[in-house]
Amino acid sequence: MIITGCGNYYQTLKQLGSGSFGSVYLVKDLNTQNEYACKIISKQLINMYNANQMIQSEIAIHYSCNHKHIVKLYSYWEDQSNIYILLEYCSKGHLIHPKTQFTEDEVFQIFNQILSGVDYLHKNNIVHRDLKFENILINEDGTLKLCDFGWAIKVQQLPVENVMCGTTEYMPPEVVSKQVLDFKVDTWSLGVILFELLHSSFPFNGKDQQELINNILNNQLIISRRHDISEHLINLIQALLIKNPEFRPGIEQIYLCKWMKQNMKTHNLFNHYENEQLKLKVKQKNITLKAVNDIQYLTPNNKTKISNDGQEGNNSHTTQSQSTNTSPGPKNYIDKFFSFIEQFKNF
Ligand code: ATP
Ligand code: MG
Repeated sequence: MIITGCGNYYQTLKQLGSGSFGSVYLVKDLNTQNEYACKIISKQLINMYNANQMIQSEIAIHYSCNHKHIVKLYSYWEDQSNIYILLEYCSKGHLIHPKTQFTEDEVFQIFNQILSGVDYLHKNNIVHRDLKFENILINEDGTLKLCDFGWAIKVQQLPVENVMCGTTEYMPPEVVSKQVLDFKVDTWSLGVILFELLHSSFPFNGKDQQELINNILNNQLIISRRHDISEHLINLIQALLIKNPEFRPGIEQIYLCKWMKQNMKTHNLFNHYENEQLKLKVKQKNITLKAVNDIQYLTPNNKTKISNDGQEGNNSHTTQSQSTNTSPGPKNYIDKFFSFIEQFKNF
C-alpha cells in the first residue's frame, strides 16, 4: 500500500503493532528511502468512540516533545478515512520479559533511560499515564524510547480530576478508585515496571478486572527476594508502590535515592539532582565569598599567582588579559566546584 502525505510517498512494508484506534506500520519514504513507523488511526473508530479530542491531544503533546528517550513524532496529516502519524522507527520493538532474568545492572541501565524520558515529561508538565512495557520501544542501537501519548495530559493546574485510564496492571490506587491524580501516577507505573524487570510478573494480579482493582487498593506488596538484588533496589520499588501518592517519591526523589545515586556513579553518569542538592547544601552552609577569593591559581607560565576574583597577587608580573581571564565570579565558582567534585568522585 502507498500512503501519501505532506507531498511525500510512503510504502508500507509490514505491520508493527495495533492499538485501540488503528495500527502501526513500518513505512519507507520512496524518495529518501528512510524508514519510519506510521500510526494510522481510523476516523470511523474515532467518531464511534467520540475520541477526537483525545487523538488531537495525543498528537499535540507528542509533537511538542524532543528528547533522546522519547520516540520522535516527525509529522502528521489526514485524509477522508484516517489520521496518519509519522514516527521515528524503533526496529527492536517494545520492551518484553527477557528469556533469562535481567541482572541488577541491566535493570539499572533500562530503568535509567525510562526515568530520563519521564523526567523530561514531568519537567514539561506532561503526565504520560500509560507507562508500560508495550509503550517503551527499543531502536536499532538499543536506546529505549517512550511512545503512545494517547492518555497523556498537559497539566496546567494540579491535581487533575481523574478518569480511569491506562492499563489496569500499571494503575495506582488513586486511578483505579478514580480520585484526583498528579505526576505520582507515573512514578507508581515506574515501580510496576521495575518490579516486572526483576520478576517478569506484575506486583498485583487478579483473575478479573475487579479483583485486580481490589488487590491494587488493598493488598500488601510482596517482593520475593532475589539473592543477587540489593536492598537499595528493593527499597526503591517499595517506595514507588506506596499506595498513598502523597508519600510516593516523585522523579527528583527517585534520582536522589541510594540505588540511583550509586549506579549513576558506577556508570559515570551525571546526576543533575544530586549535583543541585550538593550545591544547595553548600549555599545553606553559607560559605563566604572571602573564602572563594582567597583561593589562588597559578598563571599558565607558573610564575605568578592570581586570586580567584581576577586580582593579581602581591608578586605580580602578569598582564591584564591574564588576570581578567581568571575571573569566573562566585556563582560560576560554586558550579565549577561541584562539577569538579563530581568528576573527582567518579574516579
Ligand atoms: P494501545 O491503545 O494498545 O496502547 P496504540 O494504538 O496507542 O496502542 P501504540 O502504543 O502507539 O498504539 O503502538 C502500538 C504498538 O505498535 C506498540 O506497542 C509497538 O509494538 C508498535 N509501535 C508503535 N510505534 C512504533 C515505532 N515508532 N516503532 C516501532 N514499533 C512501534
Ligand atoms: Mg500502546
